[in-house]
Amino acid sequence: MEAKRDMTKKVPVREQDPKVRAANFDEVCLGYNEEEALAEAQRCLNCKNAKCVTGCPVSIDIPAFIQQVKEGKFEEAAKIIARSSALPAVCGRVCPQESQCEGVCVRGVKGEPVSIGKLERFVADWSRAHGFVPEAPAEKKGKKVAVIGSGPAGLTCAGDLAKMGYEVTIFEALHEPGGVLTYGIPEFRLPKDGVVQPEIENVRRLGVTIETNVVIGKSVTIDELMEQEGFEAVFVGSGAGLPRFMGIPGENANGVFSANEYLTRSNLMKAFREDHDTPIMEAKKVVVVGGGNVAMDAARTALRLGAEVHIVYRRSEKELPARAEEVHHAKEEGIAFHLLTNPAEILTEENGWVRGIVCRRMELGEPDESGRRRPIEVPGSEFEIEADAVIMALGTSPNPLISNTTKGLEVNRRRCIVADESNGKTTKEGVFAGGDAVTGAATVILAMEAGRAGAKGIDAYLSAK
Ligand code: FAD
Ligand code: SF4
Repeated sequence: MEAKRDMTKKVPVREQDPKVRAANFDEVCLGYNEEEALAEAQRCLNCKNAKCVTGCPVSIDIPAFIQQVKEGKFEEAAKIIARSSALPAVCGRVCPQESQCEGVCVRGVKGEPVSIGKLERFVADWSRAHGFVPEAPAEKKGKKVAVIGSGPAGLTCAGDLAKMGYEVTIFEALHEPGGVLTYGIPEFRLPKDGVVQPEIENVRRLGVTIETNVVIGKSVTIDELMEQEGFEAVFVGSGAGLPRFMGIPGENANGVFSANEYLTRSNLMKAFREDHDTPIMEAKKVVVVGGGNVAMDAARTALRLGAEVHIVYRRSEKELPARAEEVHHAKEEGIAFHLLTNPAEILTEENGWVRGIVCRRMELGEPDESGRRRPIEVPGSEFEIEADAVIMALGTSPNPLISNTTKGLEVNRRRCIVADESNGKTTKEGVFAGGDAVTGAATVILAMEAGRAGAKGIDAYLSAK
């Protein structure tokens, strides 16, 4: 007789074995198959007052799509998700569900929450495999809108505007669209050809044109787009791609990378593939400084490229800003964590290459303005970690190119564009903004929410014109 199922527990998701995956770039999480998705969907209580929806920044009708999954109507489920999200296969993989929809799911009170993210991923993957594509809008408004940047903010804004009938062109500085989804998050978490590109293709199918290799502020300015090229409104979704450094001695040595450069070389330039000729340093022992998703991604990439990897983070495990799942995966794969540890100096060989890093032990004091306990150095606690490469993953800020070249576009002291959260309106008429360019480095789903708000703001502005 089949054992009674414990409904307080999630249906476990299959993953590649840690020992095997540590040496390849294939996706770590294998997702649910049909049978597993149906079983997990049964756990949803279809709450009348569904808390999960309030936890989702784009308010996906979660109980409604899960109900369709329960009934095996996967295309219907995909249609429900598509009303709120243009990138479900991406979000199902990288959203911090544990602190959003799943964090408030009532199932979580007496057990594990419903695996909403894995169900979203299942529906998105199923619909892609079965050729379900969004319909292009019939009505055209005859008005041109420019979107700067093709990350989640730009793609969402462009897709929503195209659905409303606007003629939308995305201008992207890099040679591939997708923003961080393409150049930052590694293949083993978010496959490019299999997941990111098809979702971008769906945005194109709505009628959006994507022009790559166009750096706004260099190739053409926002003022020129509006005054000479006939764009009646502009949405700036240019992200926060400028890396921060610590300013410690030795940071200019050969073998010190920003996580952005390291990840871009691997993801966008495909340095991890033997058939590509853009090089990446083959380091033997790598120290990654930082504790966010970016640090985990850089560390796990370096591991897969053959290095022994050490993460150095100045606060404790509790304060690690990376998703719990990423930390768990990094540990499983054999990455060493040096917590309550802060770099003081990077040591170099006579030839200018990195040979190690001097660190200090830290302890936690009173909470700082971020609400987290402030790390304080323990005097006389210096020690060395040998390394031939150091990757700095300390956060990023928006590149000032656009604000420096656009008259009347105000930025705050963190160089973020000042914009109204509810509609993306900036201090310059006809220019809207959202995503990391406004908030500083945040998350995919918050960028999508801002893209959606920007599209609504632009529609209201152009409708009233
Ligand atoms: P971006 O994705 O940065 O896109 C901006 C685009 O604008 C880029 O393509 C850029 O080339 C282009 N651009 C910039 N300037 C110009 C210009 N002058 N002209 C034309 N184009 C320009 N979030 C999560 O939710 N979950 C995760 O697991 C996660 N992991 C992450 C891992 C890494 C390594 C990084 C770097 C970030 C991660 N994030 C994660 C954060 C998330 O990816 C970002 O918050 C999100 O991508 C921001 O979206 P955006 O559209 O505002 O900007
Ligand atoms: Fe289902 Fe949880 Fe949402 Fe309730 S809160 S509808 S159980 S996913």
